[in-house]
Amino acid sequence: MSRLRPAVLVHYHELALKRGNRPLFLRHLGRNLVRATSDLGTARVRQLSGRLLLDLDGAVPIEAVRDRVTRVCGVSSAAVAYRVASTVEQMKAIIARLIEGRSFGSFRISARRAFKTYPMTSVELNRELGAFVLERATTRVDLHHPELTIHVEVLPAETFVYIDRLPGPGGLPVGASGTVAALLSGGIDSPVAAWRMMKRGCRVGFVHFHSVPYLPPTSQAKARALVERLSQWQYASRLALVPFGEIQREVVLSVPPPARVVIYRRLMVRIAEALARRWGAQALVTGESLGQVASQTLSNIACIDEVARMPVFRPLIGMDKLEITDEARRLGTFEISIEPDADCCTLFVPRHPATRMSVEEAHAVEARLDVERLVAGGVDGAAVETFEFPARAPADAG
Ligand code: ATP
Ligand code: MG
Repeated sequence: MSRLRPAVLVHYHELALKRGNRPLFLRHLGRNLVRATSDLGTARVRQLSGRLLLDLDGAVPIEAVRDRVTRVCGVSSAAVAYRVASTVEQMKAIIARLIEGRSFGSFRISARRAFKTYPMTSVELNRELGAFVLERATTRVDLHHPELTIHVEVLPAETFVYIDRLPGPGGLPVGASGTVAALLSGGIDSPVAAWRMMKRGCRVGFVHFHSVPYLPPTSQAKARALVERLSQWQYASRLALVPFGEIQREVVLSVPPPARVVIYRRLMVRIAEALARRWGAQALVTGESLGQVASQTLSNIACIDEVARMPVFRPLIGMDKLEITDEARRLGTFEISIEPDADCCTLFVPRHPATRMSVEEAHAVEARLDVERLVAGGVDGAAVETFEFPARAPADAG
């Protein structure tokens, strides 16, 4: 038998795609697949019917490629597939190699013909290849709950055989839905909220407010670590680090303690929106969950959004802390988020924030502040950093 040439076969949720959107979706998905694996070997993407194939050059670490692929948004599942000529002999030969040394109590063959002129139907292939497996292994056929499924996809020029299919995130490829700006604290929630938007196809820019020099720069380090982690799903990220300590100091001078949290948030929204506009973002994202803390009541959220001119998305609004924490663990952001730090919100924050702040109250309090100057100061003071995954090789000098 010829040398094994593995490839990664990528499935996406085809049914969810409207006809007109499919080419755009596939273009983004293909580009992201190449980008996600660019440091592991030169990859080319081929469109097969209803799936994509990642062809790999050279001696690439195929399992590593597959793991990267299972993190690409828009991928419903990915498998390392082996390519053989479309003859039953070749299919049997590769199946023999794949099941060698493997014990499985039950199995089924799942054959699929992409072209109907193949001399055998998929049912006939299932029978013939199934009988072949039964000759070589102590096992039985179970069509409904098999321990092992052997997939055989027959194309005109070649056939792909694979066993282990790993789930991807699903959703839409990053870039297909436009750009949003996420308010990223060092907490558990906002990184999860940002990821949820990536999964719906958004490129996410990040805005973090810090209180240096009033507090140590630990929150910035956390924000960087979180953005670095989240860049694994979108390959390139921007993070704006906005100095907020001076703004908070001014707020404290004229705003009574219970009103401060909502006033801080209203200022954050205005500053983030200005940065978002520069990035071509069309919406903001926060990690709020209804009722989780005093500042996240319906009244306060309404009062915060009153200053927004873009939509403010809160993908976690209906989630429990436990669900959010589980997702943070899956994403690997949890460990970063729980590192102790001095978030700007611990500075000058009252013990008992107002839980029902009205828009009228906010206006009255803000009349004592030079809001325009404070916002401009935040926007102008922002330091923007960029992140890439995988890290690019240093560009040639010259
Ligand atoms: P998180 O776990 O995301 O910090 P939280 O439960 O602590 O959220 P709040 O402190 O009320 O909630 O913050 C609500 C949201 O406001 C955060 O999810 C985040 O989107 C935004 N936010 C709060 N503090 C900051 C900050 N320092 N920089 C950027 N965004 C912030
Ligand atoms: Mg927080």
